[in-house]
Amino acid sequence: MTTMVKPHSWADIDRQALLHNLARVRELAPGKRVCTVIKANAYGHGVHALAETLMPRLGDKDLAAVATLSEALALSETLTTHPILILRGPLDAEEMDLILHKGFHWTLHSVRQADLLKHWLSQNSGKLPALNIWLKLNTGMNRLGLYTSDLQQIWHWLQSLYAPGARVLMSHFATADETGHALAQTQQLNFNQMTASLPGAQNTARSLSASAGIIALPRAHHDIVRPGIMLYGVSPMEGHNGADEGLLPVMSLKSRLLTINQIKAGETVGYGASYQCPEDMPIGVVGIGYGDGYPRHVPSGTPVLIHAAGKVWQAPLAGRVSMDVLTVDLRGIPAQPGDEVLLWGQAWGNTLPAETIALQAGTIAYELFCQITSRVKLFYR
Ligand SMILES: *Cc1c(COP(=O)(O)O)cnc(C)c1O
Repeated sequence: MTTMVKPHSWADIDRQALLHNLARVRELAPGKRVCTVIKANAYGHGVHALAETLMPRLGDKDLAAVATLSEALALSETLTTHPILILRGPLDAEEMDLILHKGFHWTLHSVRQADLLKHWLSQNSGKLPALNIWLKLNTGMNRLGLYTSDLQQIWHWLQSLYAPGARVLMSHFATADETGHALAQTQQLNFNQMTASLPGAQNTARSLSASAGIIALPRAHHDIVRPGIMLYGVSPMEGHNGADEGLLPVMSLKSRLLTINQIKAGETVGYGASYQCPEDMPIGVVGIGYGDGYPRHVPSGTPVLIHAAGKVWQAPLAGRVSMDVLTVDLRGIPAQPGDEVLLWGQAWGNTLPAETIALQAGTIAYELFCQITSRVKLFYR
């Protein structure tokens, strides 16, 4: 028999905030088709619940994107109404076969993937299946994407197949999150030049912008925008918070105070004895650590919010984050064991941006979200 126990750490997932952020995408990119990016378990938010929430708000021509075939297969159990794009495309012949049978959209970013398709066609004569191909161009990211000469050849070959299905010309920015970065301009130029060199491509849909492009590069919106992080309420722009772009945090990571210790001046707290109490003071122990996905690398001083005695207090971390707990300086805060603690997100009318914690950890909120572990229970509101 299993008994219900209260989780020590949990995340409230705010469905209304998600829909608000989707509406914000439509405001910033009016009239554009939207490909909602819900890879990596919807950036740690739980892909099925998020797909369920988004589905009724997607337009006829909108889609959802994930990174891999296995993510697409899982998502297709929930998202039955809209096409699913596999950003990484097929890895081998077996994946190619499944993708074509399932009718997924997929990116073709390498000559090898074109060869996989050629091989498939040679093995499967008869009626052509729908080829829902997003041709990914390398415009300067130099990661995944076709170079000009390969693109030309593959384009001509695809045209000659007269296969049914969707075609999209896409690329991805390397630096759109840095305002005014020259490479973002170069990539737009390259994208326009590369696509202009393809005969008959004028009527093919184009997709260039993820969240940063949606926010900062309106001329790069083209036909389909691909928002990821902004759906979750985070700004991809350097030095910005979600609020700066009119976004609301979707995930609020929470825990509780387990215990409060009175520590003497000069004594230290936690592993490595990295924090020394400057005076006799209360130290709160909170039931969350890196085993839940809270980053170990944040230094003492990183803020948490505590709901105590009917008010909200900001407390700084004191000492290293350990696997199951972290410790906070409770001087001047009338906290009690059991009081709730907000690690990032929104609660009790206050916001603690995930961006703030990410900055302290030397990373980005994307990574914080993806690192949330299965010990954190997700509650959908
Ligand atoms: C992940 C991804 C996105 C979404 O990026 P955000 O910065 O989260 O908006 C869009 N396009 C591609 C190709 C991606 O890999």
